[in-house]
Amino acid sequence: MISILCPCYNEEEALPSFRREVTRVMEEAGEPFEIVFVNDGSDDGTLDIMRALAQQDQRIVVVDLSRNFGKEAALTAALDHARGDAVVPMDADLQDPPALIPEMIARWRDGYDVVLARRDDRPGDTYAKRSSAGLFYWLFNKFSQTKIPENVGDFRLMDRRVVDAVGALRERNRFMRGIFAWAGFKACAISFERERRSAGETKFNASMMWRTAMDAMASFCPRPLTMWLYIGAAVSLASFGYGAYIVVRTLVLGRDVPGYASLLCLVLFFGGLQTLGIGILGEYLGRTYVESKRRPIYLVREVYGPSKKNSGTDARNEI
Ligand code: UDP
Ligand code: MG
Repeated sequence: MISILCPCYNEEEALPSFRREVTRVMEEAGEPFEIVFVNDGSDDGTLDIMRALAQQDQRIVVVDLSRNFGKEAALTAALDHARGDAVVPMDADLQDPPALIPEMIARWRDGYDVVLARRDDRPGDTYAKRSSAGLFYWLFNKFSQTKIPENVGDFRLMDRRVVDAVGALRERNRFMRGIFAWAGFKACAISFERERRSAGETKFNASMMWRTAMDAMASFCPRPLTMWLYIGAAVSLASFGYGAYIVVRTLVLGRDVPGYASLLCLVLFFGGLQTLGIGILGEYLGRTYVESKRRPIYLVREVYGPSKKNSGTDARNEI
């Protein structure tokens, strides 16, 4: 069985067509499937629609979270409740075309554990989104030991083996793409064109994208933290050299008074450098603080429909 995972935050407009499309594609392909909808604390009619769908169709499971936990946590909840031999996380807005799933399944049957869907073209996204995403992937891969494939989102097929491996990682700062990449396994990629949203609007504004990017960097790349050793060393070395030069010059040419401008520049430069360094420390320390509290990644209010976990408490989630 294939589990389609769909985290939703205020997607009442998109849900019915999503459900229709997925059901049509999967029935045509003759594949047994379930859809795991996670309601990530929506404040519109999303939950009512989900529950109505679950009542009509035994293949639909609804996991209702106690509030909005963010997409990465909602996706984790969906992974934990999936019962399939393989899972496919998808956005509710049909930006990830369900028509690609049969091809993914075929590659999975060929023996791949992970089938990535690479968006070669993203006409559905704005220029700002595409270029900031490009910059982010480049920076992340430069700094991180875990390399994430460019232009691959959460839309992919993963074997049960991968789901169980990923499910064992319970860190609070979750960047699922990084976690999936960290797990490894045998992967291949197929390409598709990312369409425009079918309905509703994007839930990610610039500040949320910035937060996601910072979370991703801080949970996978310790280098911004450790590079200060080298920046510090380089700066001290340079100032030591400059100091020696001043001593020699004073000895040779005698004392001179001017130097106010260069002094001020240096003071400002080092002030900025130190603040930047402290800021980066703060980014990491703040996340370590959150991590050390070991709170659950999400809380379930109720599960509707057949699921392996029917109560709100989840042993693994309580670690
Ligand atoms: N989403 C979520 N919780 C959030 C924000 C988003 O579950 O706090 C879901 C959203 O409903 C959608 C998916 O994550 O199914 C991707 O969001 P969106 O399509 O807005 O992102 P974009 O495609 O614009 O990057
Ligand atoms: Mg989308």
